[in-house]
Amino acid sequence: MILSLSAPMADDSVENWMTISHQVDGISLNTGIGLGRAVLHHPVGTKVASTREDFGNRSQKAQLIQLDQAFVHLADEIQAFISQQSTSPSTKTQTQMQAQSAKVSRDILDVHLLLARDPGWKRQLRERIREGMSTLDAIDQALQSIRERLERKGTQPHWRERISDFEDLSGRLKRHLTDSVGVLENEDGDSPIIVVADRIGPAELLDYDRSRLVGLVLVEQSHTSHVAIVARSLEIPVVGGIKTLLQEINTGDSLLVDGNEGRVYIRPVREVVRRYDAQFQFKKTRHLGLSEAVAPLMARTLDGVSISLLLNAGLVEDVDHIEAAGAEGIGLYRTEIPFMMRPKLPNVNEQVKLYQEILNRAGRHPVVFRTLDVGGDKVLPYLERLKSESPIKQRRTAARIVFDRPILLRYQLRALIRASVGTELTIMLPMIAEVSEVQAARELLDGEINREKEKGNPVPTNIRLGAMIEVPSLVHQLPQLFPHVDFLSVGSNDLFQFFYAIDREYPKLTDRYDVLSPTFLSVLKSIQEQCQGAHIPLSVCGEMAGRPLESLALIGLGYRTLSMSAPAVPLIKTMIRRLTYQEISDYMAGVCVPSQANIRQNLRDFARDHGIYCE
Ligand code: PEP
Ligand code: MG
Repeated sequence: MILSLSAPMADDSVENWMTISHQVDGISLNTGIGLGRAVLHHPVGTKVASTREDFGNRSQKAQLIQLDQAFVHLADEIQAFISQQSTSPSTKTQTQMQAQSAKVSRDILDVHLLLARDPGWKRQLRERIREGMSTLDAIDQALQSIRERLERKGTQPHWRERISDFEDLSGRLKRHLTDSVGVLENEDGDSPIIVVADRIGPAELLDYDRSRLVGLVLVEQSHTSHVAIVARSLEIPVVGGIKTLLQEINTGDSLLVDGNEGRVYIRPVREVVRRYDAQFQFKKTRHLGLSEAVAPLMARTLDGVSISLLLNAGLVEDVDHIEAAGAEGIGLYRTEIPFMMRPKLPNVNEQVKLYQEILNRAGRHPVVFRTLDVGGDKVLPYLERLKSESPIKQRRTAARIVFDRPILLRYQLRALIRASVGTELTIMLPMIAEVSEVQAARELLDGEINREKEKGNPVPTNIRLGAMIEVPSLVHQLPQLFPHVDFLSVGSNDLFQFFYAIDREYPKLTDRYDVLSPTFLSVLKSIQEQCQGAHIPLSVCGEMAGRPLESLALIGLGYRTLSMSAPAVPLIKTMIRRLTYQEISDYMAGVCVPSQANIRQNLRDFARDHGIYCE
């Protein structure tokens, strides 16, 4: 599988992120996820115009000999594809469907071989050449007459596919005659590739380096098209039916093909790739059977302390994993992710639909909706104001939007209220730096609720408003903040970066400091103690909550609610079930010596000495 953050990404320049990253929807022709560089497919033989004249000047005899040779090469080439298919090992994990696809794909190539050896086709071509036509014109004319003949037979997919087989073979034959540049001319390096084509024949697809081919995107194709069948046997995701494809994609663009949802992300921003990566990791975890075993078990320590494990989600499909992962609900739904996947700002109705779908998928499980958190690495291409600002200035504008563009938040709150009628609505505000920002947001929320009531519309049964602690200034205002919030959640990713004045996107800097430093842990401890004293529910939803060693520390500091990506849940739950709370609590109280850079090794020793799986 190819999802990794080191895979090709949209150009890092802010301008490019803003202008061209977007999603297009088509239909799924094969499942799976692929991330790679686009290679625009030119059908073989379409680049032979310049040699057409040369052919006209060749003697008939020379052309006939060359035609015979080209047929031999064509048959050899297809035979080679067939041999490769037969020798590629069928893995133990190959499903019945994949095995079936492989068989059908082999049958298609067998038919191609038969056609390539068909004496009738060759005879037609030879006759035309003898009548004075050049070989290339003869191939085109023969193809046209075959096309017309097959079209007369009917419009069923079967005949269309046969036409496409002849198109594929005719193109290849021309290539053998002209040695014209092959399909891979634009592609270099060894990074994963995604082939983008209007039409492509199955054998043409096999021309691409299979070790690098990770996806296929088509303008128009059906489930039963030969190329889709061959792609299925290669186990690559395929999305078809995207009419505007060739205008939107250039060779070299980074593409993320989601064959499960029938969607293609053109120049996906880092955040979108990250969410897909988390999904992929979760599926891998499930594949290994890790989550099945622990999903139904409680996240409870040996001495009976229950820890609430929640999911961080951003893709609508993430929500489906709550039960499979063994989590209790969604502790952080990043609403900016679906916003980032659209070419324009979703209106209130579109947002209502989206939030309703999330709530439906979550079923009885609670969902914490975080309001839009944009800026920095999370860019909405259509937010004009951000485009003109420098990367530093536009870094995280989330809370400031409340003041700068209150309409954005008002529409989002309105949609959340309408989507949650008859149920509880939980809203979390990101990037809060001042208590007044929560008050401003609360006023907008109250305004929206009153607006709905005045219109006679029903409202949610209960609304909870919380904030993230991720700007250090807020840590110093907790007593003043408490009366205005129903809950709090530590966004350790941002709190850490702003605490140490580093940039979370640049590992060189982030590696220099550690979330397990006594200094940072003392901040987390202070937050926990203050919230506990004020009876304010508190969680951690930054990445550290999903890492075993870090979550061990958090539990030792008294945190009882952790929100993380789906693949982390089984690991953290396993760790908790082997842990004695009192022991880690006592240990943490004694281990945080300020002069130490971090307590990572101490925690490793603790885990080893207590038989806790923690890596
Ligand atoms: C965080 O900052 O820790 C957090 C959870 O929010 P995000 O990663 O979306 O900024
Ligand atoms: Mg954050």
